[in-house]
Amino acid sequence: MTSMNDLLISGGDERTPGGAILMDGNRLRDEIVAKLAQTIAAVGSPPVCLATVLVGDDAPSQRYVRNKHVQAGKAGMQSRNEILPADAGQAQVEDVVGRLANDPSVHGILVQSPLPNGYDEEKVLSLIPADKDVDGLTSQSMGRLVRGLPGLVGCTPLGVIRLLERYGVATSGQRAVVIGRSTLVGLPLSLLLARKGIDATVTIAHSRTADLVDVCRNADIVIGAVGQAHLITAAHIKPGAAVIDVGISRTEAGIVGDVDFDAVQAVAGAITPMPGGTGPMTIACLLENTLSAARLQGSFPV
Ligand code: NAD
Repeated sequence: MTSMNDLLISGGDERTPGGAILMDGNRLRDEIVAKLAQTIAAVGSPPVCLATVLVGDDAPSQRYVRNKHVQAGKAGMQSRNEILPADAGQAQVEDVVGRLANDPSVHGILVQSPLPNGYDEEKVLSLIPADKDVDGLTSQSMGRLVRGLPGLVGCTPLGVIRLLERYGVATSGQRAVVIGRSTLVGLPLSLLLARKGIDATVTIAHSRTADLVDVCRNADIVIGAVGQAHLITAAHIKPGAAVIDVGISRTEAGIVGDVDFDAVQAVAGAITPMPGGTGPMTIACLLENTLSAARLQGSFPV
């Protein structure tokens, strides 16, 4: 069991009304972004550049991309945004991504997902070289992850790992349940948690899992990556467990996570808020990946 004494609390870290440590993603994002800015400035500020590709006018996608550029600026990085209309067509999107792939001044490429209906997203992703794949989504990046080779891993899964590290949640030999098995979040996160050095004993739960409460209630770490509002209740959680919420449901009351925060914070040892937990960490890790990408390309001192 993760006892609260195991957790790392530093000045200003907050607890929930029930006493759980609040794993604050905004705070950790700011810490990571400040560290990236320091690292870049310390070697004379060589250009490190993130390029995003946004197709169409989906409002949440526009907001996500805008945030990425704001935070890139704070991290001392350059950023470019290629904006195309929803009806630009497959060939034009592929042309833009292909040019970024061949541009040595661009270190990281992120194609904002989802592309509008009618696009072959796999084909677009396949044009991103693994060393520029800051979203960690290409087959080559996923293959490197499975084989334990150096490479770029997905920003949201990496963000979850950074939260566990920052708040001192023990992982070695601990039981972790990841709910959700997508290639974007659940699957790469499960692989990362089981990796040597992190060493959790991982169970992957999904839509066909029978008795989710029974699967979760002995876990030391529970991560919801489903997108079903308040799926995870206090009944799922062992007292003292760490609970991380990745799921996002947009309701009339605003954004709601997979975790019933009010009920779960009373039993958990540590918990992320939603919003303000994994979302900001996804952006922080995108920028961390952009610096890693510049290093992989030999554009930044190792
Ligand atoms: P997805 O739809 O591809 O996958 C959802 C997964 O949940 C599937 O593997 C499915 O088997 C599982 N699932 C569905 N119903 C279930 C149930 N009742 N019990 C157990 N498992 C169930 O979604 P995704 O792309 O992996 O995203 C998951 C959620 O995370 C979404 O809400 C998405 O918006 C959110 N998300 C958040 C961030 C972030 O930064 N916080 C980043 C990416 C995605």
